[in-house]
Amino acid sequence: MYDVIVVGGGPGGSAAAKRCAELGLKTLLLERMKLPRRKVCTGMLVAKVAQDLVEEVFGESPSKAITPSQYLSGIRVYAPGIRPRTLEHRIFIAWRKEMDYWMNKKAEQSGAELRDAARVETIEEGPDGFTVRLAGADVKARFLIGADGATSVVRSCLFPDLRVRYGGATREVYKGALKNLETDYMHWFFPAHRIRPRFDINFKRDGLFALEGGGLKDLSKEIKQYLADHYGFDPQWEPVWKDGCALSHLHDELLSGAFVPAKGNALLIGDAAGLAVPVAYEGIGSAVKSGILAAASIGNAIETGQPAASAYVPSLEGIMAEIKRLHPLEDWLTKEAEKGDEAMLDAVIFAFKKAFVESEY
Ligand SMILES: Cc1cc2nc3c(=O)[nH]c(=O)nc-3n(C[C@H](O)[C@H](O)[C@H](O)COP(=O)(O)OP(=O)(O)OC[C@H]3O[C@@H](n4cnc5c(N)ncnc54)[C@H](O)[C@@H]3O)c2cc1C
Repeated sequence: MYDVIVVGGGPGGSAAAKRCAELGLKTLLLERMKLPRRKVCTGMLVAKVAQDLVEEVFGESPSKAITPSQYLSGIRVYAPGIRPRTLEHRIFIAWRKEMDYWMNKKAEQSGAELRDAARVETIEEGPDGFTVRLAGADVKARFLIGADGATSVVRSCLFPDLRVRYGGATREVYKGALKNLETDYMHWFFPAHRIRPRFDINFKRDGLFALEGGGLKDLSKEIKQYLADHYGFDPQWEPVWKDGCALSHLHDELLSGAFVPAKGNALLIGDAAGLAVPVAYEGIGSAVKSGILAAASIGNAIETGQPAASAYVPSLEGIMAEIKRLHPLEDWLTKEAEKGDEAMLDAVIFAFKKAFVESEY
């Protein structure tokens, strides 16, 4: 019997498990993949609040711990045939595989038990707490934290009637040199005179770069030709690897109150709760923040005897306010894009400034 089981070893799960272990709680962190695992994600800590939170929870700055001098100078946005726009902003960027594993290990060092290759199949709630079913084994706890990302099993067990809208993102990682794209900028392309589809190119160590985005499948040939014509992409290059993931869209439900990401002593955090902030879907910071809040709420529940949800839900106020502030920009961006590519790029820079530079939660 554990005090807390945390399902999912992303940034949210590691932060929650670390904080629970530090409270002296017997904590189990379950991850379905063999660790270290890959995650489709640019790996940017863009907002200052995200950088500060990661440092606050996991100790030394990940820039020192993982990728020395791995900072971007900003973001450039492109539409065919017009002048790109730039947002100058210092951004930490890492491979998620390395950053997340560093977080997993920090949680373990703080006393959480870390179990990988442990896929949770279903959850059952009984009078003594939760039974978490893994292939071939059951584990039990008084408190449960669902940190299992966009396609959360914990969420679907707790809220079987919730209808979730999903999007998708793909990533292809190449080794090779491109021209006319500075490696210390994130390059975001809007190839179809609309806000979507869009894709980005960002450079990592060892001559690798990632091409990632949503709604790209049908455009992939055109995109590669465009990159060949302008940036020296060789259409014969094969990706070193490619992968993809789902994104869940729950902002409308969160803002209307139709979905509240907690029930009794079961709390959802990060992408499982739909808390990635709108516009750019920066979700590492909000996952870490909600993980800290979930751990604190469990500490509070043990002291007061109240369900953990009753402290957790109000404590999400800052993240909810941020979602509320940024959510309208998504429709606004679509409308601005209808005015033409120049207006679209100006609007994107405006919205990124709001989402990245001014973010606070
Ligand atoms: C293309 C793309 C680019 C992005 N770029 C950025 C960015 O630059 N910066 C940023 O802040 N955010 C970015 N995001 C969003 C960010 O990746 C997520 O918001 C963030 O990873 C959420 O963290 P999390 O801990 O909630 O979930 P995740 O990081 O998704 O972790 C969930 C974990 O749970 C595990 N899991 C799932 N199901 C089970 C199960 N049944 N049993 C056990 N374990 C399970 C998964 O394997 C995974 O390890 C991007 C997203 C995409 C798609």
